[in-house]
Amino acid sequence: MVIDRVAAGYDPALLPAEPLPLIPLAQLYARDVPDLPCPDGMDMLQVLWCPFDEIMDARSAVHLRWRRSTSVRKLLMHPPEPAFVGQGYYVPEPCVLHPEQVIEYPAYHELDDKLADRIISRERELLQSPDEKHPGYRGDLSIAPGWKVGGWSAFFTFRSPAGPDELRCCGAPLEPLLTIPSDEWDGDTRSWRPITAEDESVDHTPTQVEIGRGYTLQVYRCTASQEHPPVTIMQ
Ligand SMILES: [Zn+2]
Repeated sequence: MVIDRVAAGYDPALLPAEPLPLIPLAQLYARDVPDLPCPDGMDMLQVLWCPFDEIMDARSAVHLRWRRSTSVRKLLMHPPEPAFVGQGYYVPEPCVLHPEQVIEYPAYHELDDKLADRIISRERELLQSPDEKHPGYRGDLSIAPGWKVGGWSAFFTFRSPAGPDELRCCGAPLEPLLTIPSDEWDGDTRSWRPITAEDESVDHTPTQVEIGRGYTLQVYRCTASQEHPPVTIMQ
């Protein structure tokens, strides 16, 4: 019976006991990512996460490991696999990164109201001359899509933008460290796609990681201490 099998899948007795496994999510070197906010003496960031829905709200489900790359001696060619994962789409397909530094402007919700209104009315004016191609603020200028380090808070989709209280840890402000989207680009953000990806058949999700129903997860770091656990916000 399908129902029995479904029920069996959720029988806590059948699941391995905690602690739940962490798996590697990203490894970044300061030499490739010049803005990586490394603590003194460190030049590498390893991000690990627990491939369960807890990545959405439990601070213990995402770990940041800042390291000195020269201190890494023995490499494990075949990392051990966890016995059990909550969701297959939280297990990234191994990818080699080719980071590129870009300038992005903040999302509308970060701008003061007057400036946002000016941008919106300018875009309306430009729409009057549809023959000329103009970059759009939302899709082409603000918030670069895809996996990235730093930048601004992503667009908020199903929920209200995070307020200053939510973006705080120990009194210090949080800032975006790593953005994990469900797509590298979409129809609105095609101008950000890598030049090697002119071919429409190129996979928009090379990592195979998907956040909720096509949302974005941002990992925020505490600006007061790199020792403090990160905060994640799905939007
Ligand atoms: Zn803190």
